[in-house]
Amino acid sequence: MDVNSHAEELASDLGVDKEEVKADLQNLLEYSVPIDEAKQSVRRKHGGGGGSTPTPDAVDVGEITTDHDGVTVTVRVLTQGTRTIRYQGDDLTIREGEIADETGVTSYTAWQDFGFEPGDSLTIGNAGVREWEGEPELNLNDSTTVAIADEAVAVDREVGGDRSLVDIAAGDRGRNVEVRVLEVDEKTISGRDGETEILEGVLGDETAKLPFTDWQPRSEIEVGADLRIEDVYVREFRGVPSINLTEFSTVTPLPDPVEVAEDAPRLSVADAVGSGGMFDVEVVGNVLEVRDGSGLIERCPECGRVVQNGQCRSHGDVDGEDDLRVKAILDDGTDTVTVVLDDELTAEVYGGGLDDALAAAKDAMDKAVVADDIADSLVGRAYRVRGNLSVDDYGATLDAVEFELADDDPAAHARAALAEVGE
Ligand SMILES: [Zn+2]
Repeated sequence: MDVNSHAEELASDLGVDKEEVKADLQNLLEYSVPIDEAKQSVRRKHGGGGGSTPTPDAVDVGEITTDHDGVTVTVRVLTQGTRTIRYQGDDLTIREGEIADETGVTSYTAWQDFGFEPGDSLTIGNAGVREWEGEPELNLNDSTTVAIADEAVAVDREVGGDRSLVDIAAGDRGRNVEVRVLEVDEKTISGRDGETEILEGVLGDETAKLPFTDWQPRSEIEVGADLRIEDVYVREFRGVPSINLTEFSTVTPLPDPVEVAEDAPRLSVADAVGSGGMFDVEVVGNVLEVRDGSGLIERCPECGRVVQNGQCRSHGDVDGEDDLRVKAILDDGTDTVTVVLDDELTAEVYGGGLDDALAAAKDAMDKAVVADDIADSLVGRAYRVRGNLSVDDYGATLDAVEFELADDDPAAHARAALAEVGE
């Protein structure tokens, strides 16, 4: 709807001149007042009062589109998460989650505490509709009314935020997990309010492992602790979903140990890449190529980036520090991924450490011999790779934690056997 139509609707509701209403509206819109608020304000000015807002027609959740200005829905609350955001300079506590009826599910943001909980059946009057990540989302604000529905709303969906780690995705809010703390580190970061202590680490359950950040460090979070953590939100961090604990999250020790998956889920490269990023995943494929920037490399002493021709991208001319690394292209027939081996894994596949590599490079008077040597042993062979997969504009990268010849590759066995005979 444009200002004209809004003005027309308001003018006819209030029984006043349309041009006058339009001028008032335009004035408010110039000050970036949202249209709903502007209309409320014009209503009050003309004695319409906030309470006389006509309640929009009731719609099914499945029918809501971003073309709706406001809607009235009767729904079941599926989940609710709480967090503080900074909005126009103020810290604001908002509640977010999903609501559903028989026809569909939608997310919501409540800008005040309406007091409802997951499982409640509600009639929500005059909720605003905005677009969030391409989908309509309901905005529950000052003009919204929330009442207990006359009847319980039946939905064919899970009520409540309990999830296994494998089902956690970036963008989730109000989730509850039962996990074991596998790793935890204290860190100091400079946030918007100065230096802040946080905890970072890894959580596991029997389905998966995921990184986490606790923005309000809690003593219960220590390695080996089995915990139920309620009201976390999930955001993407370095390409994988990361669990965030806020001041609103609660942490309760569990009486029984949480089973943790030993193995990473094994996926095809296409499925792993298609997930948009995964923490702790396993793929099996053939090494097609060892890329430039492998073998004996130099890193910037300041930032650790790989230095090319004595130049760091951020720090310019630097005295690089020697290091070992492999960037290999792995292909399993469904897709390819760049596998990165750190210095330790590189030493394993090279069959020697940094000193050996430097000695070999000195003998040959060529650093490239190290990468050539590594390529000779890797290219054409099948490997099982476990690690953390991130996907960005430059492609998919698997930071390897484990890198081993695949057991199920007969050709590799044959070559390994031949190599032994030859020694
Ligand atoms: Zn640097």
